[in-house]
Amino acid sequence: MRALVLEEIEKEMLVKQVPDPELTPTGVIVKVKANGICRSDWHAWVGDLYVPTYPWVLGHEFTGVIEEVGKDVKRCELLTT
Ligand SMILES: [Zn+2]
Repeated sequence: MRALVLEEIEKEMLVKQVPDPELTPTGVIVKVKANGICRSDWHAWVGDLYVPTYPWVLGHEFTGVIEEVGKDVKRCELLTT
């Protein structure tokens, strides 16, 4: 899949091919239709937001369609913050 990737703090963000996500028993696979970059992504870029590992895929605010559902998923809930 294509993703916006941050390789290092304050370095250029690049659209790259990354491995497709793997379906877990309690997860879902979403086909992303639209994506936004927010201030949290900016904080990751400048280095004042904890990022567990680099490269880091940016753009956690998205919309899409659920394509696959893990075998242990009983229901899906809309999570909002
Ligand atoms: Zn955000």
